[in-house]
Amino acid sequence: MMILNEEKFAKELLTGQNDSIKSIRQKIDLIARYNYHVMNKKADESYTSIVKWLEKHHEIFSEQTYSNVISDCIKKAAKRPFYHIEGIKITKKEIETITSRENLRHEKILFVLLCMAKQQKVAYGFDNGLVSYKITDLFKAARVSVPVDERENILHELLKVGLIGLPMKNDTRCLFVKFVDESDDVAFELSEQDCGELAYAYLHHTGKAKVFRCSKCGKLIKQSKKYGDICKGCQGGAPEMKLRWCVDCGSEFLVNTMNTKTCRCDACQADYRRLYMKNLMKEKRSVSTASES
Ligand SMILES: [Zn+2]
Ligand SMILES: [Zn+2]
Repeated sequence: MMILNEEKFAKELLTGQNDSIKSIRQKIDLIARYNYHVMNKKADESYTSIVKWLEKHHEIFSEQTYSNVISDCIKKAAKRPFYHIEGIKITKKEIETITSRENLRHEKILFVLLCMAKQQKVAYGFDNGLVSYKITDLFKAARVSVPVDERENILHELLKVGLIGLPMKNDTRCLFVKFVDESDDVAFELSEQDCGELAYAYLHHTGKAKVFRCSKCGKLIKQSKKYGDICKGCQGGAPEMKLRWCVDCGSEFLVNTMNTKTCRCDACQADYRRLYMKNLMKEKRSVSTASES
């Protein structure tokens, strides 16, 4: 999963609209930063809400085991604002390099690695085409299914022709993409949605296979005769009400699918409004006392 808009991603995690993260530490980190940068929660409020949320939505959670991790993430949250990448630009030269392999498996792997290098440059501050990766996830994102041994062979081939490189220390979790082109001779730009289906994005933009955009939601799909040009998710229309999770306490509540704003359960929304009004009154009072003196 490649994240371009971290704030949106964190909100979707909090409200139960995305379950792509399995690591509890990563969940805690995202929520702590969301609480700090978006919700303006104080450390103790953030702590309570993270515990409440995890108790409801992370299997096997004990506060005792994770209290240090939570406090640590809250402490570090201020220094780590969310990043936002508008889109990933792929240049003509990069596409030429990739297509010149004339081997669809190699091409798709190279394309995914290139996109990862561009994303990680912003997300982690990596440079020189450095990519941190997991081989299973890489092949999954590229939609290349081959036996485990064959995966290593493919990477080895690409290494031999100099399109990727290894770091000095023999680190199996990192490699360099050696054909990143910094020019602005852009062939196409990937949206956040396209980044969810990188293999299809490659096939679509190069015309190497028939891939379509769902006419309702814009998602890239392989066309099936049964569904035509509408993706599975859009078949039969979206349900009117959807379950969402409260950003303060993690409780589930129902909202209309058209409603993109509501992010708290009724009880927390009432608390939030009360606090908001209280602070507003306090501010007004301090302004009027200041003007009197
Ligand atoms: Zn769709
Ligand atoms: Zn709530």
